Amino acid sequence: ATPTAIMVGTGQGARAGMLVKNAEALELAEKLRVLAVDKTGTLTRGEPAVAEVRPAPGWSREEVLRLAGALEQGSAHPIARAVVDEAHHAGLTLPAVDAVRSHGGKGIEGRVEGRALVLGAPAFLAEQGVAVPAEAVAELAAAGQSLVAVGVDGAYAGLLGVADPLREDSPRAVARLHALGLRVVMLTGDHEVTAAAIARQVGIDEYRAGVLPDGKAEAVKALGAGGLRVGMAGDGINDAPALAAADVSFAIGVGADVAVEAADITLVRNSLEGVADAIDLSRATLAKIR
Ligand code: ADP
Ligand code: MG
Repeated sequence: ATPTAIMVGTGQGARAGMLVKNAEALELAEKLRVLAVDKTGTLTRGEPAVAEVRPAPGWSREEVLRLAGALEQGSAHPIARAVVDEAHHAGLTLPAVDAVRSHGGKGIEGRVEGRALVLGAPAFLAEQGVAVPAEAVAELAAAGQSLVAVGVDGAYAGLLGVADPLREDSPRAVARLHALGLRVVMLTGDHEVTAAAIARQVGIDEYRAGVLPDGKAEAVKALGAGGLRVGMAGDGINDAPALAAADVSFAIGVGADVAVEAADITLVRNSLEGVADAIDLSRATLAKIR
């Protein structure tokens, strides 16, 4: 390929909101057959908010929110911020938390007011010996909400549903990618039913749910089995290994014009449509060379 055409393409990309770190990525983009897409912060805005609080019998909404908020002060997860904000909105004063242990992609545990708290995905609470009622899980997950179950001293205390709105142009982006002939596969650590609901809203028919952070890189490699070129779009926060495992990686959701270290192409407009734009640009650039 002629370096000049690639340089011109890279310049056009920059003007269209694509920061191309790696010129080879621009050549490879048109060869992508599969695009793996992170859900939270990529298809969705990454601005989760607590939509529902379902206390278990014998618990009040306030007490569940107060304890969950206290524990989430010890976590950097976006869901944690949503829970803390909701507790503050409810006018609650949050007690201190100690002995915090984070379990990446699953949840968190810690001690609040001398009680042992666990919080996170229902499957994680089950691992900790706390059973979460299936009906509440099914109902909130069917609405596309992320699930935050709360256990106190080994007993189930309640379930929070956290909603993160889709980015407005995600459905259009997925339609364009399908029209370009790509398989689009959503990867998420969320519950199966939550994943299915979001996938349906955005027009994606393939997804992998309950994937832990390391599992996302494995999933990207598996999608490339047989030599298919695989792209990965993520927000670069906890999906850097998956971005690194892809042939071409795209970062969105970082705002401004900060190039993401782990990504070949940073989409500064924070829209998944940038992936389709990059493939279009790749085709146009290479057509000039041929
Ligand atoms: P995604 O893959 O969509 O970015 P994550 O892997 O970050 O999602 O999280 C998956 C699930 O793990 C969440 O939906 C939630 O149930 C649970 N989880 C992980 N960490 C936390 C936390 N600090 N607070 C609440 N829930 C958590
Ligand atoms: Mg994410």
